[in-house]
Amino acid sequence: MAPSDLFHDVSFSRVPAAAAAAASPEATAGGTAVFGEDGSSGAPSLSLVLPGEPRAKHTLEIDLSDAQIFKLGPTEWLCVNGESEAKDDDDEKSYSRAIKIVLRTEAESKAFYLAFQRWKHGVISGKAGEPLENGVIIASKSKFDTKIEASSAKMYFHYYGQLLHQQNMLQDFVRTGTYYAAVMENRSDFEGRVVVDVGAGSGILSLFAAQAGARHVYAIEASEMAEHAQRLISGNPSLGQRITVIKGKVEEVELPEKADILISEPMGTLLVNERMLESYVIARDRFLGPDGKMFPTTGRIHMAPFSDEYLYVEMANKALFWQQHNFFGVDLTPLHGSAFQGYFSQPVVDAFDPRLLVSPSTYHMLDFTRMKEEDLYEIDIPLNFVASVGTRVHGLACWFDVLFNGSNVQRWLTTAPGSPTTHWYQLRCILSQPLYVMAGQEITGQLHLVAHSAQSYTIYLTMSAKMWGEGAEQGGILQTSTAKLELKEPYYRLSQPQPYVVQDQQEQQLPSLQPQGSGQQMQDDLSPSITIEPDQDSAAFN
Ligand code: SAH
Repeated sequence: MAPSDLFHDVSFSRVPAAAAAAASPEATAGGTAVFGEDGSSGAPSLSLVLPGEPRAKHTLEIDLSDAQIFKLGPTEWLCVNGESEAKDDDDEKSYSRAIKIVLRTEAESKAFYLAFQRWKHGVISGKAGEPLENGVIIASKSKFDTKIEASSAKMYFHYYGQLLHQQNMLQDFVRTGTYYAAVMENRSDFEGRVVVDVGAGSGILSLFAAQAGARHVYAIEASEMAEHAQRLISGNPSLGQRITVIKGKVEEVELPEKADILISEPMGTLLVNERMLESYVIARDRFLGPDGKMFPTTGRIHMAPFSDEYLYVEMANKALFWQQHNFFGVDLTPLHGSAFQGYFSQPVVDAFDPRLLVSPSTYHMLDFTRMKEEDLYEIDIPLNFVASVGTRVHGLACWFDVLFNGSNVQRWLTTAPGSPTTHWYQLRCILSQPLYVMAGQEITGQLHLVAHSAQSYTIYLTMSAKMWGEGAEQGGILQTSTAKLELKEPYYRLSQPQPYVVQDQQEQQLPSLQPQGSGQQMQDDLSPSITIEPDQDSAAFN
């Protein structure tokens, strides 16, 4: 049983139904409130045990399935439920019963409310618009609802509500293994601590945190996956007793205490897709105590110009269809320009050979512990590279990494080309007009990301190559190429699906838990036979 499911030193009193508000009934102090299951029916129940013997005579049993709770004050609750009394064989009286319950502290009072909801509903619901702890309906929109279109959010949480997509993430061994290693190598950051799992999904990171000795974990998940997470957590009782699943958005739910550490996996393609980093930052401001930690702590978007003639021709060829003058007697060419533009507005997601990069990469860092949520609405990254070879530049390649800045070990999770592939792969923005560069030539430009209400970004890319030869000293710009791309509509170019090799957990080489200097080191430890099946369905998100 979770510690929050038993409350000592509670005082309670029956409130006469006729005059509930005015009554000042006799209160019984020093009691215990116990949440559990009714021995015979298995229904969720709340037992209010009065001090004294015999226990049975001094216990008020409340069936939670028809009980409601209303907040009377910072530590006071009114619990109302139906009660029936059989007078004789054919005369059964039903009436409402109200019991006032007073907790010792405000923190205990909130924990009592959460326990009540968890036992009543299976999971705690914290949806906007539903009755909250004080019985008030929140009419105002949350930060999430004001900036995200309802239709986008509906599709998004529907996607994450399905186990197959959670499985896809869990089976990304680089991802899940690195989280596991980062937590286990930094036990001291979790032992005896209060943890919030921001967007808990299946609950896996909450279970990791509990394995590392967390005192209590609040697993917040907005999608229907919360119910599955509750089942998974209940099925691992030694860990689960220290985890509370709360169904709701991190922008909307309330927690009874501040957290020492947040754990989350809010990264999308190009790090920022899905706009969940904003929820991570909001969760920090709402739930993290002073000097609290965040896992991951920072993230970096890496960028480098690339040259890939095959990819360019492949994309250009897709639009060739629209160059037919006689398609069943119809001239398709009026739409060729739009089709061409359409294909080039799709960022390409695949794993590419790092030898396609034309220069060393640069990066843009995001510090999750300090940044403002608004900093993610528009991200402006100046570009400056020096070409290592003379070639045609077809665009900008991007990937990301995140750092778990543990007290013990710093662990990196990278999605770089050439590193073991993750379900994020890498992202390439193609220029419809390639640039010609010489070795040693400077490539400048700008990557401008603008967030939109469909939980993604519009990408504005500009790349310029400075003129060489005569006139270069004047700094004149010879070629500039621009592109506008939609991060929400990527082209998943995974031509050779690799099978996911099912292995016995024991056989799977878990990442070494020895303290290591960098994530790269750990990635090298991974068994090369473990590959992740590209999931075409995952194209929608992550
Ligand atoms: N932590 C899990 C799942 C990561 S996927 C794991 O590592 O395997 C991100 C999860 O966050 C999804 O299940 C999604 O439904 C949830 N999520 C996204 N935004 C959220 C928000 N604002 N509030 C609560 N949950 C959110």
